[in-house]
Amino acid sequence: MKPLKLMNYAEGQWFGASGGLSDVLSAIDGQVVAQTGSQGLNFKAMTDYARKVGGPALRAMTFHERARMVKSLAEAIMARKEELYELSSQTGATRVDGWIDIEGGAGTLFAYSSRGRRELPNDRILVDGPPEILSKAGGFVGQHVFTPLQGVAVHINAFNFPVWGMLEKLGPTLIAGVPAIVKPASATAYLTEACFRIMVEAGVLPDGALQLIVGQTGDLLDHLTCQDVVSFTGSAQTAAKLQGHPVIARESVRFIAERDSLNATVLGPDCTPEAPEFDLFIKEVVREMTVKAGQKCTAIRRAFVPATLLDAAEAALKARLAKVKVGDPRVQGVTMGALVSQAQRRDVREKVAELAREARIVFGDPDTVEVTGASADDGAFLSPILLRCDDPWKGQAVHDVEAFGPVSTLMPYTDLQDAVALCNRGQGSLVMSLFTYDPAVASQVVLGSGAFHGRLLIVDRDCAKESTGHGSPLPNLIHGGPGRAGGGEEMGGVRGILHYMQRTALQGSPRMLTGVSHRWIANAPEQTDPPHPFRLRFGELEIGKSLHTQARTITLEDIEHFAEFTGDTFYAHMDEEAAAANPFFPGRVAHGYLILSFAAGLFVDPAPGPVLANYGLDNLRFLKPVSPGDAIKVRLTAKSKSQRNEEYGEVRWDVLVTNQDGETVAAYDLLTMNAI
Ligand code: NAP
Repeated sequence: MKPLKLMNYAEGQWFGASGGLSDVLSAIDGQVVAQTGSQGLNFKAMTDYARKVGGPALRAMTFHERARMVKSLAEAIMARKEELYELSSQTGATRVDGWIDIEGGAGTLFAYSSRGRRELPNDRILVDGPPEILSKAGGFVGQHVFTPLQGVAVHINAFNFPVWGMLEKLGPTLIAGVPAIVKPASATAYLTEACFRIMVEAGVLPDGALQLIVGQTGDLLDHLTCQDVVSFTGSAQTAAKLQGHPVIARESVRFIAERDSLNATVLGPDCTPEAPEFDLFIKEVVREMTVKAGQKCTAIRRAFVPATLLDAAEAALKARLAKVKVGDPRVQGVTMGALVSQAQRRDVREKVAELAREARIVFGDPDTVEVTGASADDGAFLSPILLRCDDPWKGQAVHDVEAFGPVSTLMPYTDLQDAVALCNRGQGSLVMSLFTYDPAVASQVVLGSGAFHGRLLIVDRDCAKESTGHGSPLPNLIHGGPGRAGGGEEMGGVRGILHYMQRTALQGSPRMLTGVSHRWIANAPEQTDPPHPFRLRFGELEIGKSLHTQARTITLEDIEHFAEFTGDTFYAHMDEEAAAANPFFPGRVAHGYLILSFAAGLFVDPAPGPVLANYGLDNLRFLKPVSPGDAIKVRLTAKSKSQRNEEYGEVRWDVLVTNQDGETVAAYDLLTMNAI
């Protein structure tokens, strides 16, 4: 294969370096696959272009428009995925490894797109939480909102997931409305560049939304400001270097770091070799050692088992590891590919040597491996290596040194407290897993270890079949961890989007903040003229459109009728003496659901019209009991709107039910789907 000359993408143009190219070698045979270089790029101009061209274009779009754009990117990648699989094997990845990277990456974009359209408004501003009443009369209120940062996100990625690593950051960034400059790790930049090219060629990105640097970043960081974010994945050493950059400190540039991690797994004390969890544990450790040849930030590096089970666990792990077939990932039957490069293999061998000073190798040889379909000398192949450390409290390297390859250390613990303390010696990690069938064991571990881990997977026989596994970060859960793991957090649904936005506390009158936030706040003006709000289509309905209903008196017959009709004969509605003995009630009271039903009876406009469906209630509270003889009435106000598709949108109504004394008896948000 002729080496690919990788191109940068800057200021809307593909740009080949003017010199200083570096060779990137195939993981399988050591041949030159590609050349990278960024010489000649104007990094300041790139940041300016992102801020002046990309940012405004993205911010002009709504969350939904940006989410749809992200979906189109994912579709474009899926349509051309085979081009990526072909390149992926040169990184040493098997088809399964490539699937995690390529389709896992596109899947992350799909997941973000759908969350963006479901959980965010079709708007440019995001309201955060309910309004805060700041004055007695309610004429001065507060409201937190998020707006997109007005700078650029610099994404610096590790080599191990060249596609997923880029996309898991881009999904949230683009939906937030922030342009990005992507800098992939050189060792696998050819795969990232190919995927990036597919996204550009999809033709859905506004100018300046994305730029790419294949090679060194030059003086890029010198041009960052308080509106920018650096999102870094890689080694602790590089993270420390970048985080210490004077501009990053001086300008308070947001810095999200995902670094090394000495992830642990624990076999619970309840899991003897006969328990299903024992076998699940063995399988998971081996899976984590071999997927991506162990080059996963989340891979299990430390496996803890009860001291009495150390020998049994070692024997079971060895038996399973013996089945691993190392070789050219394109060859049928190969279950583990190569490390990314000879340099990476040298690094892993050095780290194994450090570990072997306090642990002994019980499976594999770092210097020799039988390789199927390729040469062990030319390619970066390595045997899986299992170490065993009998005294983990004496060991230091086993808790400190990350061999970023197919390497794990098996260690004993005495009791659960000991296991927790040993796990926490990793000083902060991305993920920990626990194999147990006993919720009491799990509770103790969660309380003891939660603070040290970003994610905690508890595996038992009930969830094993469907479990996504120890090593899989998911778009709806946070990925990141404290301490050694970098202290950063990515993904986690909408949480990941907020890293690229600024939260601001607004203060002002209800009218003003309603106008700014596009969400009606109590005491803001209402529009009560006809027609009835249910007669207005989604597009015609304005925030603040209100209906104040007539009153309806609730009788004892109503309550009894409702009880008989629904079968809800709870004593508070049916037994005067028992109800009066309850501290909440003066005597028999109306059912909460009766109040809701009567409220609907008061506010609906029955004829067919633009209201298509009742979608549910949010934030429902019954605040005061309703006794027979009380008269209730309703205020229904259009609070916010969110278009779902070309046919209908969701309307959120603020509903307040009051009694004859003007006291609130119930308050809630009603959701309806309204025709466009
Ligand atoms: P690395 O050597 O730290 O490189 C990470 C990225 O930083 C690469 O894109 C690299 O580019 C870039 N870089 C290096 N020096 C730089 C500088 N002075 N200025 C700007 N960019 C610079 O890490 P790696 O070898 O790619 O990845 C392996 C490590 O990453 C492991 O330690 C692993 O634990 C960690 N990792 C962590 C996570 C996580 O989510 N926590 C995920 C994956 C990997 P070049 O390649 O061009 O040097």
